[in-house]
Formats: sequence, C-alpha cells, structure tokens
Amino acid sequence: MPAILAWHDAHTLNPRQFEAYEEELCTRALGGEAVLGFLRLSRCALMGAFEDHRRALRLSYVGDRFPIIRRRTGGGSLSLDPGTLILVLAFPSPRESVKPLAELMADLCAPLLQALGQYGLGARFDAPNDMTVEGRKIGSGFLLRDGDVVVFEAALALSLDVEELLKTLRLPLEKLSATGILAARDRFAPLTAHVPDLKAAALHSTIATHMAQTLGLSSRRERPPRPAARSATTSTEDPLPDVSAFLKTPGGVVYIDVCLDGATVHRAQFTGSIHGANPKTWARLSDSLLGSDVARLGATLDRALEGFPDMIGIDRADIVYLGALCASRYALSRHLDVFAARQITIFSPDRTASAPDILAAAEVVLLPYCAKPSWCKWRHRDGCSECGFCAVGEAYHLGRQRGLQVVTITAYEHLCAVLADMKRRKVSAFLGVCCTDFFLKRDYAFVDAGIPALFIDIGGDTCYTLRLEEAAYAGRFEAEASLDARLFAKVLHWRDRLRADHEPEVGGVSGPNAIL
Ligand code: SF4
Ligand code: SF4
Repeated sequence: MPAILAWHDAHTLNPRQFEAYEEELCTRALGGEAVLGFLRLSRCALMGAFEDHRRALRLSYVGDRFPIIRRRTGGGSLSLDPGTLILVLAFPSPRESVKPLAELMADLCAPLLQALGQYGLGARFDAPNDMTVEGRKIGSGFLLRDGDVVVFEAALALSLDVEELLKTLRLPLEKLSATGILAARDRFAPLTAHVPDLKAAALHSTIATHMAQTLGLSSRRERPPRPAARSATTSTEDPLPDVSAFLKTPGGVVYIDVCLDGATVHRAQFTGSIHGANPKTWARLSDSLLGSDVARLGATLDRALEGFPDMIGIDRADIVYLGALCASRYALSRHLDVFAARQITIFSPDRTASAPDILAAAEVVLLPYCAKPSWCKWRHRDGCSECGFCAVGEAYHLGRQRGLQVVTITAYEHLCAVLADMKRRKVSAFLGVCCTDFFLKRDYAFVDAGIPALFIDIGGDTCYTLRLEEAAYAGRFEAEASLDARLFAKVLHWRDRLRADHEPEVGGVSGPNAIL
C-alpha cells in the first residue's frame, strides 16, 4: 500500500473524457499509487457497468440531447449535470487483504458521511450503497474490485434537476413509505438545499482528508490529469433476446437475456444494477452458457458459479434461480405454444412453487384497470358486464366460468387492500395481469402478501413508458394497455388440465430450482 493519497480537482469534464480519466487513475493504482479525483460532468447519462441502456434509460427522451457513457463500477445509472459531484478513487489492494465488498462499500462511503457531518448533517449509510439525510438520498457509492485494484466511485448531489432525472431514467416516480406515497422530489436531499453557501473546494479537501485517514494514508493535493475525449462506447445495437428473465435481489435487479438457436444458447448476457462484481467475471459466466440447453440453465449456472467472487446483495443461489426462471419461461412458451408466454413471470415467495403448482392452485384473477377501454364505464370500477368489446371481458368470462374470483385493480391502495384480504383468507395462489415495470417497482406489495402468483405481462402503452405512474396509481391513467386474450385463455385451459389430471410436472426440467 502506498503512503500517500494523491488527490486533485479535475473540475468539469466533457463526458467523453470520463473513460480515459478512469483508465488513468486505474493505471496509476495498478502501478502502486492511491489516487482520488473530484470532478463534474456536463450533461450526460452515466450508466452502471452492467446496465442495459434499454431498461435503465428512457431512450426516446435521451435521443441526441446528451451522451450516454458507462462507468467501470456497477450499480444503477445516473442522470448527471455539473450539479452532481463525482468522486473517483483507485488504490492497490492485494487480494489476500480483501474485505467483503459490502463492508468495503460502507467503509469508503464513511469519509463522505463524515464530511457531510461537518455541515451539521446527520448523514448515514443506507445499504447496499446509498447515503441519506433524514431518509432522503444525497448520494450513492459504487465499487469494483479488479484484480489487485479497488475502484470506488461516488455521486453526491449538490443540486438536482429532478424533472430531468425522471425524464432520463426509468425510475419509479414515487415510493411507499410508512407515511404514504412520497413524491420523487421528496426522495432526494441535494446538499445545497441544506448548505446554500457551500464552497466546493473546502468540501473536496475535507473528503480527501477523511478518505486518507480511512485508508491509513497521508494526503497530498496534485495537479489534475488532462484525459483525452473518446467517442461514446455504449452500443445501442445488441440483438433482442429470444428469452429473458429478471430477479430482484437486495443488491439490485439482475436480468439474463438469451439468444437461441433452437433450444441451444448462442448468446447470453447478464445485465442490471448489480454492485461489486467485475465485468470480466460476468462475461466469463455468460460464455459458460454458450452451447448449453436453455431448459437446463439453472443447473448449468450452478456448476459455472463454483468459486464465483463476492458481490453485494446477490449470491450464487440468486443467479441459479434466475437461470431457472429463464428456463421456465422458455418451457412455458413451448408448452403453451405461444411465444408471448415468455413474458409470464413466476412469483414464488420461497422459490419452491413451480408454474403448474401455482396455476393449479390459483383462486383469484387480478386484472389492471388500464387494460379496459378508456370509454368503458367499468374502467375505474371493479367489475365488467362482459359486453364483448375488449379482452378484459373475455378474461372475466373465462375466470367466472371456472368459479375464480376476478377483480379489477383500480388503484394502488385498492391492490394493497385486495392482497391483504387474500392473505387474510389464506388464498393459495393467484393469476395476475400487470406490466413488468409495475411488478418490478412495486414487488414489495406482493412480497408482503407472500402469495405465489403467475403474472401475465400487458403490452401497449404503459404508464411507465408514458411517465404517468402517479396518475396510474391514483386510478387516473387514461391510455390503454393491451391484455393478450389468446395467452390468457391458453393459461386458463392449462389450469383446467392441471386440475383434471393432477399433472405433476411439465417440460422435463430438472436439477437445481426446476420450476416448470
Ligand atoms: S368487456 Fe367489460 S371491460 Fe371491456 S368494454 Fe365491455 S364492460 Fe368494459
Ligand atoms: S400500465 Fe400502469 S396502471 Fe397498467 S398495470 Fe402497469 S402500472 Fe398498473
């Protein structure tokens, strides 16, 4: 370990200089130096190392307005302008002296929290990587161990254009708290709102001093580097996958996308807001799937993950289950003979229930009001006269025919009340229809209820793509999403067969976490 932490203020960089800037600091760390830089970036979207631009960003808004760049560290994407202070730290750290990444993340965020404390702010670390003041986010840390080098990056909001952030990132507009729905604006606490006369130079110097202490080094200020600008490297031309799956973990959402030749994997990719892992490791894991049978993805991953390195908030069992979810989606589409069945999501709170288990046990169907026509008098009410003018009527008919309770969810509070009632009545399982964005961003409502479910994704304009989530949760979303009536009917017919035959297992999937 070196004796000195060399630090500098690189001021505002063109986003296209950022890649060379990171590279220079990492090269110096590889050569045995510890280097810390402070910088701002002019308007850009800064993606996490593993993020998929199609899932992380609202590309229709970003367009040619500003560049999309990618950093070396994982975690979520950021919408940046010079109002955000970026910190890049690179230092040598022999593998044998490694702490778990989750601990290292907390340690390296601590100097920033100490510096904020000098402004009278009771900032705290909020695992896995956030820094908060009174529950509101002020910054985030991102971490990478690459061989014998550690790279820590952090973003600290000095000022924040929330409107731009919401237009740039595919984030939920609000989140639930103990006191109800918090508006997106209330989720963030930019530093200048607390310290209007903030002097950046003093802040940098204080953070550098605390960071040096944390690393057991003395600090020395240096001249900033002058990195060359490079062309943007983020590809927007990845092929669309044949089958995908996602899993929400404490470390972020992780996706697997697979392109197939028959049932053989010829391309696989992991993406998401995953913290800590090295891109080379993920690439190796993806390569290990090439040539394998998609139906056995869980088992193949289980073998390939032997000795997989430490990550934050995601473990081997998560990745194996993700592979099994992907295999089950593929098997579902084969079994139902509908390509769209690859959009069905299995929700098994304890990861033990298979798709047939859940379907055979389903007692309730939940439908979203947004799939009803905007002119329908039942649009914002629970119920349907089955007038024959839309797919929701068909779903009601098929469900009622089978004695299933069919409910139209009319608002977020209504969903919570319906789930609470189902939990109280000990409903075994349900069939839900909603957009994937809703499931991903509101999964805690389903996790709280703890009832296994199969979710059929809806198509068309969703309130997430139209940025109308707040209106939607209040039951005021006017656009129309589309329910795939053919797929819905096939799923219910399969349920009939399962219940008639007590069909135990379909698709021949076996091995770790076989779920279809
Ligand atoms: S089928 Fe039901 S939901 Fe659809 S238009 Fe008719 S009444 Fe409305
Ligand atoms: S599009 Fe909006 S209203 Fe419809 S299911 Fe998704 S979140 Fe709910």
